Amino acid sequence: MDHFEYKNGHLSAEDVKLGSIADEIGTPFYAYSTATLTRHYQIFADALHGMNALVCFAVKANSNIAVLRLLAGLGAGADVVSGGELTRALKAGIPASKIIFSGVGKTDEELSLALSIGIRQINVESVPELEAISRIASANGVVAPIALRINPDIDAGTHAKITTGTLENKFGIEWTLAHEIYSRANQMPGIEVKGLAMHIGSQLHDLEPFRKAYERMGDLVAMIRKDGLSIETLDLGGGFGIPYGDETAPMPNVEEYAQIVRETLGGLGVEYIFEPGRVIAGNAGVLVSSVIYVKEGSSKTFVIVDAAMNDLIRPTLYGAYHEIVPVDDPGKDVDMIEADIVGPICETGDTFVKSATLPRPEPGDLLAVRTAGAYGAVQSSTYNTRPLVAEVLVDGDKFHVIRPRLGVEEIISRESIAPWQSTD
Ligand SMILES: *Cc1c(COP(=O)(O)O)cnc(C)c1O
Repeated sequence: MDHFEYKNGHLSAEDVKLGSIADEIGTPFYAYSTATLTRHYQIFADALHGMNALVCFAVKANSNIAVLRLLAGLGAGADVVSGGELTRALKAGIPASKIIFSGVGKTDEELSLALSIGIRQINVESVPELEAISRIASANGVVAPIALRINPDIDAGTHAKITTGTLENKFGIEWTLAHEIYSRANQMPGIEVKGLAMHIGSQLHDLEPFRKAYERMGDLVAMIRKDGLSIETLDLGGGFGIPYGDETAPMPNVEEYAQIVRETLGGLGVEYIFEPGRVIAGNAGVLVSSVIYVKEGSSKTFVIVDAAMNDLIRPTLYGAYHEIVPVDDPGKDVDMIEADIVGPICETGDTFVKSATLPRPEPGDLLAVRTAGAYGAVQSSTYNTRPLVAEVLVDGDKFHVIRPRLGVEEIISRESIAPWQSTD
């Protein structure tokens, strides 16, 4: 459920008409709903009742500091994958004690930053990284709290570009080696081993891969504890899938997921860390754009809109489906057409939906791309020298531009010609 509904025939974010935002700031823009973000966070956190759990929002899903601030206010921590995201999370008011640093290629600079702010935990993905952390922590006279991210070699059954938990993927330490590396890490200077971590992929619609992976983690916990080593935290990652509107089967719910966690890893006396991204932010955002032209060819009709793959890359990157709806409800007696909804970019991949059925739009009409709150604006670019898309946060009947459109002048002003190219 989200808070984007038609009110008096007009698609609104909570109590704000999307059309009024468009009138004020133009299109395209992302609009996020405070009520939806809050609701999703709460549902996730509530499902974990009775567990000693910390929910760390995966910042890469939506890193706007206003969104992070909102989640921080609800008690969320952050899972970050770069020094940049770490800096954002801190700026948004998420305390270092609730920040987890994930990622396969953390640089010395990023690791130093993380240690200097007293980060909660660094999830280590390889032996060379472990050695780097030991060296940096020792040199700075601090102890680095770490967890080993294990690769359980379980196929999440999701899109190839977002599967992370098989040995074909670059992520994590092979689970068969983890036992030995765990005890080695315990001997290393500057290292305090807190526990284990895993994240097997994103947009999982089947819970069985989670069960298998968590069972594997449970086996590992038993082996490590048998050696007399302690495990205080288990980071179970993110990856929970959400409906985009083209599912054939119903999506699992978070209660079922929490039940699997209890069954596979419950009662171990550890603190559980979760890193949900998409399930919190996905349905909490829409991308609003205007129709530029309706181009009727002999075999196909194209609705050309002013948003493009540089604003939302998911359709072309992951083959993702997003439902697209008219902002003004056209009512019942409308002329429905079948059309590809495309952006203006000079790439065939710049297609949002193929063969969509929609009410025949007029130039200037607004369309909303639904479920665009996660992995949307964060992946936007200025390709084709298009202004960087704006972001807006709605709360009740208020809205605020939380990232203004970055204009062409600003984009170009950062570039310069080399001195030898000067013509005068
Ligand atoms: C991307 C990522 C997440 C979040 O995944 P979602 O599918 O958005 O829940 C969590 N943890 C790690 C390590 C990630 O890379």
